[in-house]
Amino acid sequence: RRLARVAQMMHRALERPPRIARLTDRILRWLIPGVVALALGTFGVWWAVAGFSKALYVALSVVLITCPCALGIAIPLSLTVALEQAGRKGLLVRSGRTLLDLARAEVVAFDKTGTLSTLTAPSVRVVRPEPVPAGSISAPTDDTVLRRAAAVEQGTNHALAAAVVAAAEARGLSLPRVADVSTHAGAGVVGRIQTDGQMRRLGVGNERLLEGLGVPRPPHLHERFVDEAESGRTPLYVVDEAVVVGLLSIEERVAPHAEAVVGAVQERSEAVSVLTGDRPAAARRLEDRLGVSAEAGLAPDEKVDRVAALREEHGPVVMVGDGINDAAALAEADVGIALSSG
Ligand code: ADP
Ligand code: MG
Repeated sequence: RRLARVAQMMHRALERPPRIARLTDRILRWLIPGVVALALGTFGVWWAVAGFSKALYVALSVVLITCPCALGIAIPLSLTVALEQAGRKGLLVRSGRTLLDLARAEVVAFDKTGTLSTLTAPSVRVVRPEPVPAGSISAPTDDTVLRRAAAVEQGTNHALAAAVVAAAEARGLSLPRVADVSTHAGAGVVGRIQTDGQMRRLGVGNERLLEGLGVPRPPHLHERFVDEAESGRTPLYVVDEAVVVGLLSIEERVAPHAEAVVGAVQERSEAVSVLTGDRPAAARRLEDRLGVSAEAGLAPDEKVDRVAALREEHGPVVMVGDGINDAAALAEADVGIALSSG
């Protein structure tokens, strides 16, 4: 249902014609009548002052010089050159209009996970609950927790998912088969895995996922969850059937060029902001590192609302994301920039 809503939001955002298109249309509607009126006026004045042939000459000059031909050649030409230059640097630009919109943008909003932060060198730590959760005969080992989590994450394309799968592969774990994977944007992922001839429902995600599944959070693990988050790592609960069987803790690093990029963008725009679905502690750390304001706990549709609000406040908005959970926000923005991993 959520996916359908995101798709609907994207369609709505894409259907709205860009403002620059409306502006060009408005100008073109008045350009020709304007030029004709100007030429006629000039003709009238010069006829009175210097006679018919001089007036005709001057009026024709007006038409010639204001003729949109020069403009008609110069604009596409410069856009083509700009698009080619961008292409050489690995930037694919959807249309020349995008560049015009980009020049007018006042606000730049960034996604966090997968955009400003990378999880490419994952160190995944497994924390298990003690005492052993009721309902499981023997406590699953670290490897079992990681293996099952990775099996479910395999079916998704989030940066966190890639980190979990990579960690399982690094330990040489074989992954069980998975079915019925559903991602819960901003919360996590749920799927059914086959182990010991049984299908088990497995979930990996944050508190929001636990709430969604109606699974109580064990106090002991919740404490660890908060600790891990506070120390700058990204913790994920692993839920087996209706029991939390462990925590994964993923090291998140600020992406190598994030500081330089955010600094450069800050110099050129009125406001820079980070919109993240992650916890406030992660947002605060990013604020300290990059010196930008970050808003935490935003679900994908809330990111869309924030983009709209930023536009109200400052003007045209650029959104930079990885296209995973933020596709709708990218579409809502006046210019959406998706990183190639997205
Ligand atoms: P961001 O806005 O920072 O890119 P997301 O909105 O993509 O973050 O995700 C927000 C949170 O949702 C993550 O920090 C994580 O707790 C949870 N989450 C999202 N996708 C997954 C996934 N595939 N597996 C586990 N957790 C996930
Ligand atoms: Mg993201």
